[in-house]
Amino acid sequence: MQSRASNIVAIIGVVLAFVPVVAVDLLLDSYVRQHETALMQHAVDNIGDRIEGSANDAVTVLRQVLGSNTPLCTPGFVANVRSAMQASLDVRDVLVENSSGVQYCDAFGGQVVYSPLSTSLSVPGHIESASLVKFDHVDMPMLKVTRSLGAERQVSAFVPILASSFDNLLSSLAPASMVRISLTNGTPVATLGDPTAYDARKSDADFVAAQSFAGEIPLRPEAAVPLEVVKANYGGLRVGLMMLACMLSAAVLVLVLQYVRRANLPAFSLEQAIAHGELKPYYQPVIDLVTGRLLGCEMLCRWEKKNGEIVPPGGFIDYAEQTGLAIPMTVSLMQQMRVDLSDLCREMPDLKISINLFEGHFRDTSIVEDVQAIFADSPVGLGQLVFEITERREIGNSAHAHAVIDGLHRLGARLAMDDAGTGHSNLAYLQTLGVDIVKIDRIFIDMIKPDSTQVPVLDGLISVARDLGKAVVAEGVETEAQVRYLRARGVHQAQGYLFAPALKARAFRELARALNKQPVAPGAVRSAA
Ligand code: MN
Repeated sequence: MQSRASNIVAIIGVVLAFVPVVAVDLLLDSYVRQHETALMQHAVDNIGDRIEGSANDAVTVLRQVLGSNTPLCTPGFVANVRSAMQASLDVRDVLVENSSGVQYCDAFGGQVVYSPLSTSLSVPGHIESASLVKFDHVDMPMLKVTRSLGAERQVSAFVPILASSFDNLLSSLAPASMVRISLTNGTPVATLGDPTAYDARKSDADFVAAQSFAGEIPLRPEAAVPLEVVKANYGGLRVGLMMLACMLSAAVLVLVLQYVRRANLPAFSLEQAIAHGELKPYYQPVIDLVTGRLLGCEMLCRWEKKNGEIVPPGGFIDYAEQTGLAIPMTVSLMQQMRVDLSDLCREMPDLKISINLFEGHFRDTSIVEDVQAIFADSPVGLGQLVFEITERREIGNSAHAHAVIDGLHRLGARLAMDDAGTGHSNLAYLQTLGVDIVKIDRIFIDMIKPDSTQVPVLDGLISVARDLGKAVVAEGVETEAQVRYLRARGVHQAQGYLFAPALKARAFRELARALNKQPVAPGAVRSAA
C-alpha cells in the first residue's frame, strides 16, 4: 500500500516535472502571436490612416479650388490650383475633364496620362467619388478623388495611395512579410512582398496577420507573415525560458527522486511502521538453571509487516538507532508489553522483564519520564523492570548517562550491562555506571565446548561480576554442556535457544504459566520451544 502510493506519487511527479518545458513552447507561441499581431495591426492601421489622410487632402484641395467660384481653367483658376497644391502634402495634380475623358486643363498645363484601375466608387458621406488609377512611370496606384460639376465637367485631385514609399513601410515589418492593399470588393491594387504562401495557407494559425480600413475610402490594407519567421526573432527569449523551465523540471525531478528514495528508505518506512504499530514485542524467556523455572524475559522486537513478512531486529535496529527512531520504538514496545504482560505480572510478582535501551536513551532523561508515565499505575510494577544498557555505540561516563541510570533506579527498576565484554563495553563501567546485572554475551558462552573444563575469559568475567556484587545472566545458551558448565560456575540465570526463542505474547504467557505451575527438577531443563 505504502509503496504503491509512493509509486503513483512518483509517476505523477515525473509527469509534472515536464510541464514547465511544454508550457514554455505553448506560452511563447501564444505570446509571440499576440505581440506580433499587435505590431502588425499597428502597421496596417497606419497605412489605413495614411490613405485616409491623403484622400482627405485631395478633398480639401478640391473644395479650396472650387470654393472661389473662379471659372475653370482660367489663369486665376490654375493659380489657385497651384497654391492649393503647394499647401497640400500629397496632391500630385488637379485635372479638369468631361465625363468622356476629354481633358481641359491641369495644374501643369499638359496632358495627364493615366489608366483606370477601378470603377468609380462612392465615398460614403461625401459628395466626391473616388477611383484608383495608374500613372505612366509610377508604380504606386493613385487615388483619384473627383467632384462632378453638372453633367459634363469633372474636377479631380490625384494622390498616391501611400504618400511614403512601401520600402519604408516594409522595413518596419518583419522580413518575409507581405503587405497588400485591396479594394473592399477584394481586388488587389498594390502588393509588396510575396502573398503566395499566405493566400495558399492551410490554417490561419500558421500566420500572424492583420487588416485595417482607410476610413470611408473603400480600400483595405492587410499584412501577414509566417509565424515561424517571427518566432525566430524570439530565439534568445526561447533559449532563456527553456533553460529556466529545464531547471524547474530538474528541480521537480530531484524532489520526486528524493521522495522515492525516502519512501524506500528503511528509516522512512520504519517511522510509518512504528506509527502503525507494526513493531511487536517478542519475549525471550530467562530460565533458572537450577530449578528450571521461568524467571522473566527479555523483550525483543520483530517487525511484522502488513504483507506478513517478519523482519528480525538485525534488519532495522541500526537504522532505528541512527535515526533516533529507537526512542519512539521503545515507547511503543513498552506500551504493548504493559498490555501483553499485565495479568502475568500480577500472577508472578517476581517476574522480571528486561527492556533494551540504546545509546540515544542516554542523551537526556526523557526515558525516565516515559517509563514512569507508562508503568506508574500499571499491574507491571516498576520493580519488575530491568533496563539493559548495550554499548554497541559508546555511552561513556556522561552526566546524562548517570542521570538516566539514577532516575531508573529511583523508580525501582534495575539495570543490566548487556553484551558485557563486547563492543564499547568497558569493564571499568561495570563499577562506575552502577548496573545491577551483567549479561554475558553469547560469544563467551560459545567458548564452552562439551569437554571444556575451563574457559578463562568467561571465568574471569563471571568472577569480576560476582566480586562487584552483580547478578549474572548468560545469553545465547544452546547446549546442555553450556548449562552444566554455567551451573558449575554458579551462574543460574540464562536465556537461549536451548530453552526458547523470542516468543509472541500469548506463547510466552502459556510457557510461563506452564513452567511456574510446579517445580521442575534440576537437570530436567529442556527446550520449551
Ligand atoms: Mn539485550
